[in-house]
Amino acid sequence: MQINEVEKKIEQLLPPGCELTKIEIEGPDIVIYIKGIDKFYELDNPIKTIAIAIKKKIIVRADMTDILPLDQAEPKIKELIPETAGVESIKFCPEFHEVWIEAMKPGIVIGKGGMTLKSIIKSTGWVPHILRSPTLPSEIIKGVRASMLKESEARKKFLTKAGKKIFSVQQKTTWIKVLALGGSKEVGRSCFLLQTSNDKVLLDCGVNPDISDPSITYPYLAAANVPIDEIDAIIVSHAHLDHSGFVPYLFACGYEGPVYVTPPTRDLMALLQFDYIKVMKREGATPVYSEKDVRKMIAHCVTREYGEVTDITPEIKLTFHNAGHILGSAISHLHISDGLHNLIYTGDIKYGGTRLFNPAATTFPRGETVRLESTYGGKDDMLPPRVEAEQKLLRVITETMQQKGKVLVPVFSVGRSQEVMLVLEEFARRTPDFNYKVYIDGMVMEASAIHTVYPEYLRDNVQRMILSNKSPFESQIFELVKTDRQAIVDSPDPCVILAPSGMLSGGPSRAYLKLMAENPKNTLTFVGYQGINTLGRKIQRGDKEVATLDDAGRMESIHIKMRIETAEGFSGHSDKRQLIAFAKNLKPKPTKIFTVHGEESKCEDLAHVLSKIMRVEARAPMNLDGIRLK
Ligand SMILES: [Zn+2]
Ligand SMILES: [Zn+2]
Repeated sequence: MQINEVEKKIEQLLPPGCELTKIEIEGPDIVIYIKGIDKFYELDNPIKTIAIAIKKKIIVRADMTDILPLDQAEPKIKELIPETAGVESIKFCPEFHEVWIEAMKPGIVIGKGGMTLKSIIKSTGWVPHILRSPTLPSEIIKGVRASMLKESEARKKFLTKAGKKIFSVQQKTTWIKVLALGGSKEVGRSCFLLQTSNDKVLLDCGVNPDISDPSITYPYLAAANVPIDEIDAIIVSHAHLDHSGFVPYLFACGYEGPVYVTPPTRDLMALLQFDYIKVMKREGATPVYSEKDVRKMIAHCVTREYGEVTDITPEIKLTFHNAGHILGSAISHLHISDGLHNLIYTGDIKYGGTRLFNPAATTFPRGETVRLESTYGGKDDMLPPRVEAEQKLLRVITETMQQKGKVLVPVFSVGRSQEVMLVLEEFARRTPDFNYKVYIDGMVMEASAIHTVYPEYLRDNVQRMILSNKSPFESQIFELVKTDRQAIVDSPDPCVILAPSGMLSGGPSRAYLKLMAENPKNTLTFVGYQGINTLGRKIQRGDKEVATLDDAGRMESIHIKMRIETAEGFSGHSDKRQLIAFAKNLKPKPTKIFTVHGEESKCEDLAHVLSKIMRVEARAPMNLDGIRLK
């Protein structure tokens, strides 16, 4: 539907006393400005009625003449919101006619059936944008929100430009292909170019977390042979650096288009990217982008919730679905050229129960081709059930505590750390004589704070705990590391230490390892995937003398005398059985499956077994393989 047709349709739907004064395009959204906004909101669900009629999401704003000046609007808004909402700040964003209200209890700001929101718009003209406050202090949430507000003008500009492209008229696509630029037959630097005769969309743009070999660190962007400013959109499946770590580099190179993500992915990837810059500097490597580029990326994020259908080019519609892997992780469903083809890109998925998330979605409107992760797709990759993993971890901890040792659990700051925190919190609650401290180091607490902003992404029981002020992340047993690490290790008291990085490739966990390795009373317990060639993998397979870089970038050797254990089954990835079950339960059944994001043999094993069981074409492409879908 063309914009002038949209205009006519909307005018027919407006009640008397309302006037459509302007239509604008902001990225994938149509924005309508209305004079007589109070009359408009007297209708029942007016926005939904229009959205259904024009089959597009719309944003409604009051015409300038209906907007109260700031000094009158603010007291009015304060008056309308009940005190119990715990409003922490009210800020105005004139570029979008929005008032950003940050509160401890957003539900109360919204009011029953959205009543309070409506009253705010009707009486002030400002459109409330409600933000939940984290229950723990979070620098990232504060920083992301401040930088979005500060960059409003630039956001408006880029959204207008992107919108022009999205709503332009183009010839129908004659071909569709996907080119693997990274993350095929390997774990790391996931990056795929979805290309049609008209459009170019990047699916993920990650780095290899193992920085010891620069030749395999970054995706093969040059092989795409596409100027960066010709990329229409970037979609990021989730925040882990192997999917998001290279996105700011594109901004350093002049990309100015949208990055489609879920709201938690935006915040978590910023957290991990800022840290990645720090890690690179500490390891003596030159970061390929700066903090400024990360902030530019934040301003270019267009967030979408699960299930929202979004036009990202004139012919490609994107919908995110739950991937069950980490907070905000998404499976991307791409509906191309009126259904000429539908591509499902899984990102990383967990098709099984975890403490934090529901299993990955398997039902899609359509889906001929699936790009499926294969981290644990090998023929022997059967993980024990989650309960067994939890029991093993608790057993190892209890045994170590009894002999007055300390347990180091290397974790990804986002994902396994929160899962492990929930297990320990529940255990401590139910075991009165578990009186040990659980030290939380690195960015684990910051990442946990971000979880408290998005309870709706978590499983019901965790959601309820957060909403009733009993956030498990704030249990008494957890203590944020403020003193020096040496003091914790030297103390005679047994304790548990959760510290990133998860593969001991750097960060606090490596520092603790050096301090703890030679004491046989201590235990090192792995709870996550250990990448090939990482220090974690070497120790896990039994190496007793390992070499690693010290903080100054010099090689040093560590003697491992501590007990080494792995609590297998905690993974946020699906094991082989879960991957097969996911593929088999896909509705509708796909015709082609490409296995990616796994070591070579695992991608091949999984493709082989799926082609046999499901009788579909399944194979494991290599990096730089281009596959024509249509
Ligand atoms: Zn991941
Ligand atoms: Zn991954």
